[in-house]
Amino acid sequence: MKASPIPQLLMALLLASINSRKSDPDAPITASFRSMAIDGQFTTHDVSNAAMDFGNRYHFLPSAVLHPGSVADIAATVRHVFQLGPSSRLTIAARGHAHSLQGQAQAPGGIVVRMESLGRAKNMHVHAGESPYVEAPGGELWIDVLKETLRHGLAPTSWTDYLHLTIGGTLSNAGISGQAFRQGPQISNVHQLEVITGKGEVINCSSTKNAELFHSVLGGLGQFGIITRARIALEPAPKMVRWIRVLYSDFTSFTEDQEKLISAEKTFDYIEGFVIINRTGILNNWRSSFNPQDPVQASHFNSEGKTLFCLEMTKNFDPEYPEIMMQEVEELLSQLRYIPSTLFQSEVSFLEFLDRVHVSEVMLRSKGLWEIPHPWLNLLVPRTGIHAFANEVFGKILTDSSNGPILLYPLNKSKWDNRTSAIIPNEEVFYLVAFLSSAPCSSGQDSLAKALKQQERILEFCKKANIQMKQYLPHYTTQEEWKFHFGPRWEEFKHKKQAYDPLAILAPGHRIFQKAVASL
Ligand code: FAD
Repeated sequence: MKASPIPQLLMALLLASINSRKSDPDAPITASFRSMAIDGQFTTHDVSNAAMDFGNRYHFLPSAVLHPGSVADIAATVRHVFQLGPSSRLTIAARGHAHSLQGQAQAPGGIVVRMESLGRAKNMHVHAGESPYVEAPGGELWIDVLKETLRHGLAPTSWTDYLHLTIGGTLSNAGISGQAFRQGPQISNVHQLEVITGKGEVINCSSTKNAELFHSVLGGLGQFGIITRARIALEPAPKMVRWIRVLYSDFTSFTEDQEKLISAEKTFDYIEGFVIINRTGILNNWRSSFNPQDPVQASHFNSEGKTLFCLEMTKNFDPEYPEIMMQEVEELLSQLRYIPSTLFQSEVSFLEFLDRVHVSEVMLRSKGLWEIPHPWLNLLVPRTGIHAFANEVFGKILTDSSNGPILLYPLNKSKWDNRTSAIIPNEEVFYLVAFLSSAPCSSGQDSLAKALKQQERILEFCKKANIQMKQYLPHYTTQEEWKFHFGPRWEEFKHKKQAYDPLAILAPGHRIFQKAVASL
């Protein structure tokens, strides 16, 4: 006999209501947040936006979004969740500019804090003088920090390639670019932080005051606290930049020259490099902001589909005295072994140079090619493994570089403060190798699947060949993998988590720690 549909429907509704209560035990709690007296506001209409990031592959909906009007708003929210204890599933993710790649700034079912709301107050203070610095909110974009400090003829010392990232977002990782070989990463160029721990305490810290928290938070993947303010080192800003690119077909000469330059006393101000595999029309592959003074020569250069290595350097200068810079550049270039016909140069303002990737962003956005999946992989490869790595990866695993840039440049470990949480290889010189792939939806799922498969092969190769690399902007799905990533520093990392965020409320998107929830 067929069952009547009415009782079935009632049963289904009853089950659904039980399930929804079961799956959302925090529903009344999120309502109570809305009634909290705060300077900013909680919203729910924008939860889907808070489940997006640059990687565009992971989308975890939070229950609510906090737009803080003050540091006190964030502290009160964290304290409230902490006081709810393990009976609540709520977690909290600070969201900077959401340029994470795998949901690191998301909080499944929890609360996302829009740190940029704090930055909106334009609450920056520049201190000129002998040791200049800027005090800025954790949600401030680096481009805005630069514009503000330039008004005083000053600029931060260490950068990322792209400036539309927040202070808190890059300091939670490391913040590296072509200046890091000399200045260290951004986490080595911070004097002081204001941090909200996972217990909701607001703590000022530096290398002399609450030093353990200070060092833990730097490179700490958001695990120990939310950075609400940072004091960042500044130096006099140059006016102009001579921007140079030269090409190599021989990997050994390329890396030897890079290493020579990063260890020299008198050298360039910025040193990077990238790999071009099986591409014709070299000019088309360059970031659109680089316009060499000799475009005809550049457009005639034919790579014949080979793998080429581009060394990229800059020298800062004062346009009133260009001769000194020209002499220094000539002297440095004379020591390098690039293909002689491939010297391409350009001159731009310091601001234009630092904000160079934004030019590409504008172009990609206009073509609908910015908000697409980005299966990126960033590795820190020790110097002793870089040749084996290059041999296997360039031309074999990767047979062309049409999916996006592949950066490759060396860094000096001595410029990294080993008290911070950042994990790097155990060798004085190591390379950043960044596979910055895009997977346009127009090429279907195939391009994403292909890029991920290639990355898997690269990681497998590193394991098999015992290349002791570390992931930068690390992404793992199990605690075992995280333990391996931290190696001998895992116990210390865990111990600090217990001290500063004992309920594992903060930055759940990394999936390093799971909030312990009491069964209801
Ligand atoms: P989000 O993605 O919003 O957050 C990242 C992590 O930090 C999350 O876990 C989040 O919870 C946490 N977090 C955010 N704000 C805070 C805070 N105030 N306090 C504590 N934790 C916080 N990196 C480099 O080093 N060098 C580069 O040259 C570089 N170039 C890039 C170019 C592009 C186009 C992109 C997309 C990324 C690039 N990155 C680079 C990586 C970038 O530094 C990281 O993805 C960084 O986390 C992004 O900053 P965000 O403000 O968007 O942070």
